[in-house]
Amino acid sequence: MKQFFITAACVAAAALACAQYTQQEVRYTMDIELDDTNHRYRGTQRLVYRNNSSETLDKVYYHLFFNAFQPGSMMDLRSQNIPDPDPRVGDRISKLLPEEQGYLGVVSLKQNGRPVEYSENGTILEVTLNKPIKPGRRAKFDMEFEGQVPVTVRRAGRDNKEGIAYSMAQWYPKICEFDRRGWHAYPYIGREFHGVWGSFDVRITLDSAYTVAATGTLDNARRVGKGYLPKGKKIKRPDGDKLTWRFKADQVHDFAWAADKEYTHVTRQMKDGPLLRFFFKDSPDLHRNWDQLPEYTEKIFRYAGENFGEYAYPSYSVVQGGDGGMEYPMLTFITGQRKFSSLVGVTVHEALHSWYQLMLGSNEALYPWMDEGFTTFAGSKVMSHLFNPDEDTRRGRYYDGYISLALSGAEEPMSKHADHYNTNYAYGAASYSKGAVFVAQLGYVLGDEVLMRGLKTYYDTWRFKHPDPVDFIRVMERESGTHLDWYLNYMMNTTETIDYAVEEVAPAGGGTRIVLRRVGNFPMPVDLDLTMKDGSKMRVNIPLRIMRNAKEAEDEVPFMTAEAWPWTHPVYGFTLDVPFEDVAKVEIDESLRLADVDRSNNVYEPGPTEAEPR
Ligand SMILES: [Zn+2]
Repeated sequence: MKQFFITAACVAAAALACAQYTQQEVRYTMDIELDDTNHRYRGTQRLVYRNNSSETLDKVYYHLFFNAFQPGSMMDLRSQNIPDPDPRVGDRISKLLPEEQGYLGVVSLKQNGRPVEYSENGTILEVTLNKPIKPGRRAKFDMEFEGQVPVTVRRAGRDNKEGIAYSMAQWYPKICEFDRRGWHAYPYIGREFHGVWGSFDVRITLDSAYTVAATGTLDNARRVGKGYLPKGKKIKRPDGDKLTWRFKADQVHDFAWAADKEYTHVTRQMKDGPLLRFFFKDSPDLHRNWDQLPEYTEKIFRYAGENFGEYAYPSYSVVQGGDGGMEYPMLTFITGQRKFSSLVGVTVHEALHSWYQLMLGSNEALYPWMDEGFTTFAGSKVMSHLFNPDEDTRRGRYYDGYISLALSGAEEPMSKHADHYNTNYAYGAASYSKGAVFVAQLGYVLGDEVLMRGLKTYYDTWRFKHPDPVDFIRVMERESGTHLDWYLNYMMNTTETIDYAVEEVAPAGGGTRIVLRRVGNFPMPVDLDLTMKDGSKMRVNIPLRIMRNAKEAEDEVPFMTAEAWPWTHPVYGFTLDVPFEDVAKVEIDESLRLADVDRSNNVYEPGPTEAEPR
């Protein structure tokens, strides 16, 4: 079997991880024309699809996302029946008038030049192939398609609440991903996307008065006008004429664009970094915020590049559009009428998705926490860097979100498919908060230096592939020499919680006897922080026996590793060679990185009656 760039990219450090790894490949060429009077578009799509899997495919599937915005769709019914619907959706889809609805359909479809059988079913197109695609072989699909842009309900559409004309995400027939887990033909119900890596060459023809922002690099900038080049400002073009914009992108798994007649477009070229573009509707109220945003965005990309891995693309666009904030390759849609801190906050989060979704591309439907959680973790570090550089970033606010979830009774295992959680609350808190805790808490288990080094190795190893949870945890295991299968399993597949208690601190001979109890079912190593009456400190690390390793000292505090704790034993006692009279405080995890759901039992301080008389 011929191998191509995926395997070629397996460099030494990564070779072990991706020796068995293959992924499909796509090459899209699209040519579409938008009619802005009835909000419909029509186009052609040539898709060259390569089957790198070891299976012969007799069907392929495409997403037809815009069909979700029709009364009676799965998205509509789900939103009407979930106890806590997204307020942006609610029952709005059920009330859309025909001209407000979304639509995406096939006009004709050929495989290798011959008409092929297909059926549309809601947001999924099923194609029964004339000729199965064998392992290692290509197929060419030529499609004519047409669509109607819905009013903006969720993420994409026309006329968003800030008056942006077109936010075009999930707008074209997009082939579903196939991998060793099979087809990922997920209907569009709520959230999270997954796609095949490849290249896009897209021609968009529309009224020449529009400015277009898109994934990729503008191929005909000269024709489109000098306003699109760096240093350009607002672009004025006459109404009525048509203009074609051509964008090309490589190594992306989606393509989004936006268009408005009143976009102001500013750029900022980073030294040794991407060209940053900003598309927004300028107004006296918002001018100051958007004027400052480029400087902050440069800081975001600088910090992320240094700490999480090199940004891969030549440009990144922050585009006013959509319904809040949503990431796409090389660009994000954000709503723009915000206070400055919120404008930066949403830009930080969406920009960080470039790392954990757009360049690492985990299956965010199956593992939304690998996308949202890692992004939340990284975003929290960037926000501290921007606004509070002296802050201890090891415990982000997401810990509180997770602990509330764990105590709420509403928690569902993080292993659920994003659309199948019983409440939006449980999905959100698991994916964003618990997902971020998943990462940060590894800093507690392994040490923060090991964590940050491991995150970079993970990125270098799995960029432009689709890592899954085991791929991540294997990187961390190799980086640390520690077994972590138990950690992944408890965090992802269960709702067990962590609760450790200091049960007893007492004099024993000349030393101090300490007894700890595992109250929760989730076993974890314990950092026991002791403060002496003279103010000095020491830390006793008690690894779990199943880790087969222990972390190293993380700071200047005197550090010792105690005998490993077998998780089956609820109680762990040991005697420290420290006079009991000298001990002022014994605390489980002073750093607060352990997601202990009940910290009321974490501290022992001798009461007044036990205190030394002097
Ligand atoms: Zn996100």
